[in-house]
Amino acid sequence: GEIAQRYEILGRIGSGAYADVYRGRRRSDGLIVALKEIHDYRSSFREIEALQALRGSPNVVELIEYFWHEDEDAVLVLEFLPADLAAVIREAKRSGGIAIGEVKQWMVQILRGVEACHRSSVVHRDLKPSNLLISADGVLKLADFGQSRMLQENRLMSIDNESGVQDVQEHRSDQQNAQGLRRVNEDDYLKELYGLKAKNTTYDSDKEMSLQDGDTSCLATCSTGDIEVDPFKGSYYSYEAQEDVVDESGALTSCVGTRWFRAPELLYGSMSYGKEIDLWSLGCIFAELVSLDPLFPGTSDLDQLGRIITVLGNLTEETWPGCSNLPDYNKISFGKVENPIGLEACLPSRCAAEVGLVKRLLCYDPASRATAAELLHDRYFAEEPLPMPPSELKIPS
Ligand code: ADP
Repeated sequence: GEIAQRYEILGRIGSGAYADVYRGRRRSDGLIVALKEIHDYRSSFREIEALQALRGSPNVVELIEYFWHEDEDAVLVLEFLPADLAAVIREAKRSGGIAIGEVKQWMVQILRGVEACHRSSVVHRDLKPSNLLISADGVLKLADFGQSRMLQENRLMSIDNESGVQDVQEHRSDQQNAQGLRRVNEDDYLKELYGLKAKNTTYDSDKEMSLQDGDTSCLATCSTGDIEVDPFKGSYYSYEAQEDVVDESGALTSCVGTRWFRAPELLYGSMSYGKEIDLWSLGCIFAELVSLDPLFPGTSDLDQLGRIITVLGNLTEETWPGCSNLPDYNKISFGKVENPIGLEACLPSRCAAEVGLVKRLLCYDPASRATAAELLHDRYFAEEPLPMPPSELKIPS
């Protein structure tokens, strides 16, 4: 149709849960573009809405135009960006490191992109290295706004009014449908359990009894540094881990789904979260950029929380006033972590300043997290070594 008249498709670049992405050429002037065909109208709507609100931001991917198909699919014409931060991290790991000046330049650009989103009341909700695309001349741009939402009065949704309730319900089913996202609540858990029974031999029938009695405490009785403590839980984890893609060496390939970057309030089922969830993701991304390894590579939502708690300590009313009101707070309880590992031990020792930055983001209490605007003014970025000029950055091919 109209798109084919205007653009020539050169080949497929990638495909995700709801979208296929192609490289294309604009017939009028030869401009190379990315054509993103989205098969979910809600996701299309969100992406278009966000990209329009963010039009002109240098660190957000540019939406050139878009088309709606008769069948409710949308095709977004985006500027073509040949690399992403996941590739930068992979390449740095392969070649043995990344310079501090380089890390700083990437961070500054990510912060500018996130600051632009938050200033325009857009919460991205899916920040991770593979969604941070990079141009041939070293400009980093936030992409994949298919899960983004516009904030109202600084909260994602309020349950005070009729439409708020609807929004929450929509959101709940959204969450359950989203790829790789599984909330730990009793219903889901029991469903899992029965699905598991046939497949898994390490299943423990005593535990099932206690669960049927409504006791989910055996779900997460983790001790320090040792997440998969009982055979029952081991089987639960290995079942969930199937969501993740495993490469030939048996290692998890990059960040499938978005769990690794998910804020604790989301893992505890919060339905009134805000832009702070992006700030948590940023902390995880910054940590990965300096250490070149994912900080919290959880294999299930429970394992995700377990890993966070092992490093940062238990989540309590002291560390996060009000946390015991989170929907799933009482459903997920962890044993006391006597000696949390701490972020220093997770990051390379040369990176004291970077640890400080990551610490300002990875706070349990969302209100304590530094904003993108605040971090841009951190003296870290004004100190030597200064951020490397974008034109000097190594762009993976
Ligand atoms: P999904 O929502 O399905 O994850 P993405 O927007 O992340 O969709 O796109 C899927 C893949 O397509 C990305 O991993 C990326 O490699 C590629 N891609 C997306 N947008 C662009 C773009 N503007 N330029 C180049 N490649 C892109």
